[in-house]
Amino acid sequence: MPLPSTARLPPLVSRHVAVIGAGAGGLVAARELRREGHQVVVFEKGDQVGGTWVYTPKVESDPLGLDPNRAVVVSSLYKSLRTNLPRECMGFRDFPFVTRDGKDRDPRRFPGHWEVLMYLQDFATEFGITELVRFETEVVSVGLAEGGKWKVKSKSRDRIGADEIYDAVVVSNGHFTEPRIADIPGINSWPGKQMHSHNYRIPAPFRDQVVILIGSAASAVDISRDIARVAKEVHIAIRSVEDSTLGKHPSYDNMWLHSMIESVHDDGRVIFQDGSTVNADVILHCTGYKYHFPFLETDGALSVDDNCVGPLYEHVFPPALAPGLSFIGLPWKVLPFPMFELQSKWIAGVLSYRIALPSKEEMMEKVKAFYSSLEASGIPKRYTHNMAITQFDYNNWVAAQCSCPSFEEWKKQMYLVTAKNRVVRPETYRDEWEDDDFILQAQEDFKKFTT
Ligand code: FAD
Repeated sequence: MPLPSTARLPPLVSRHVAVIGAGAGGLVAARELRREGHQVVVFEKGDQVGGTWVYTPKVESDPLGLDPNRAVVVSSLYKSLRTNLPRECMGFRDFPFVTRDGKDRDPRRFPGHWEVLMYLQDFATEFGITELVRFETEVVSVGLAEGGKWKVKSKSRDRIGADEIYDAVVVSNGHFTEPRIADIPGINSWPGKQMHSHNYRIPAPFRDQVVILIGSAASAVDISRDIARVAKEVHIAIRSVEDSTLGKHPSYDNMWLHSMIESVHDDGRVIFQDGSTVNADVILHCTGYKYHFPFLETDGALSVDDNCVGPLYEHVFPPALAPGLSFIGLPWKVLPFPMFELQSKWIAGVLSYRIALPSKEEMMEKVKAFYSSLEASGIPKRYTHNMAITQFDYNNWVAAQCSCPSFEEWKKQMYLVTAKNRVVRPETYRDEWEDDDFILQAQEDFKKFTT
């Protein structure tokens, strides 16, 4: 029987659900689905849980990540990465990301990447999720089957499995793997090397090189500083930069800030829009990622257009295919794990009929109104899933759908204070802060779950 999306709620129902990916999103989805009484299979193409947080020194054969036939490496972590969010804000609500004793544990407030992986491993063990995961099994196609069900085909060690039928599919395959590249006039005849931050791991290959780095997001900031330790020169090209900050970086003797690249030339020159010119060895694109669902077959009911995945009701349900198909973790500039948890609870409750969705027509109307509001505000399509300050209203809205407590106020304030601290102390915000009062509130809150 197809799953209705209307407001009339039949008795609670247990569904057979496929979850794609065992990163933070897939793990918490599996927990919430199972808590709701559904039967869950998690497909994971890697050999362990953790997704992005499974660091590997391996990089892809195509440093720009454009070759569709390359062997894809999932994680984009660099070796020196520490979280850019305080651990109090990162955890799931009833499994706080507190410090734990043990070999290799990192007690810092902004820990190294391995500590996040260990937290996710602890979570998977604590809630018995690992046994739901089919490791080294990649989903290669997902499409509608008879009666509103879903056909999932997967591949394990190069063997394509038979079609399996599920009542619903939850997509949580991450969106930090498929690089977006800057368009640079003249790039085809530029003789230097290019790569994307997805394939950056350590600074050593940049020793004595002149490096141009494009971008201003968290990884661009970290990587420019990492590379400046060994490179001859680091030049950062930023789309919106204030004139007053152009030129040499006050804290480094080998780092300069520029406006965007205007053109590059076959003699190695890179010309910036501010008129400056540099002869560079490498251009490193820290220009973000694309949403990518190579396995989805929806006959046009869902598409990715300029990094907008749509149409989607509240970034989760495609109206025409809801609730059988849903997405976790599409919004960015957010506190990811807490949002994944709320979206998971919503999906789990909708699938059991505990929570009603509006009709397909009503959902579509809402989506259209949302798109119109973005357009009216001049927000480009590629920012459709960019939330920043709006994440808190969104989280509270999703929490209300699930009859969950609203988002913790201390968490919101800690996020906002950290964002400011990152600007004021870009070098040291991970070790110097002034929000001890929020830490105390967090610790008080965590006692409900840790004692
Ligand atoms: P992922 O972690 O990417 O997991 C997706 C999983 O799906 C992977 O295991 C992948 O193998 C699997 N998969 C994909 N396709 C298939 C398929 N077809 N079949 C089977 N399996 C498949 N967040 C924070 O909270 N704090 C931070 O400090 C922070 N720093 C970050 C730094 C960097 C450089 C990056 C890239 C991200 C950072 N994030 C941070 C965001 C981070 O990505 C999220 O926190 C979160 O881990 C994403 O989880 P996910 O489950 O959505 O995706």
